[in-house]
Amino acid sequence: EREWVIGELALLQRQQCDTVRELLRLRVEQLQLRIQQLSALSTLLDSERMLLLAAPQQLSTVQRVIDLLTASLTELLAEPPINDTDAMQCSHAAAVAQLSASMSAIDSRADEIATMARALLEVLHASPQRLRVQRVEAAGAAPAGASEEQIGTLPTSVCVEHQLPAGDRCPICLCVFQCGDTVRELQCKHYHHRACLDPWLRIKNCCSLCKAVAIEDPPVTAEVEPSAA
Ligand SMILES: [Zn+2]
Ligand SMILES: [Zn+2]
Repeated sequence: EREWVIGELALLQRQQCDTVRELLRLRVEQLQLRIQQLSALSTLLDSERMLLLAAPQQLSTVQRVIDLLTASLTELLAEPPINDTDAMQCSHAAAVAQLSASMSAIDSRADEIATMARALLEVLHASPQRLRVQRVEAAGAAPAGASEEQIGTLPTSVCVEHQLPAGDRCPICLCVFQCGDTVRELQCKHYHHRACLDPWLRIKNCCSLCKAVAIEDPPVTAEVEPSAA
């Protein structure tokens, strides 16, 4: 009888261990997604900086948020399980639970900063000052990312129930795709919200997640048949 109880106890401990390890694995995945989200937001804001040379007040806000993103990224990258595979082997349930809680706290701080950065991007995109600067810049320099015409060639679809995109989250806003969301699928099979992806592609012609080239060929322009005279 006593041996049976000891056996059951050992089994329960192993199961608990597997559960906390699975929890930790999910947390690491979550942090990795968060890291790439903050990097993408940082790139987006950095490109805004180029457009805001004539708007010192907006520029200093952008700089402050970029600094916050950088600090948050440093904190995320310093988290042991991401760099330290030994920590992932940790089998002590209490230690893993503690680690998981600390990762969760770091992620929610990063989430606040990401939300702030996205709100700032929205404000900047609506700013008349930016549009003026952008036109001047567009006239002078060739864009580094994809052109509007190229972006327009990417297929768009609307999410319908039971057919939500694989991966289920937009890598830029980290929101779970909902019914009715307008999304674009890239060749690498990664989905993004159209509203999240297009500003990114204007800066970098690649997938925000895996960095695969988004639009390989120049857009096909309709050949105009010479009119028979
Ligand atoms: Zn999104
Ligand atoms: Zn991709």
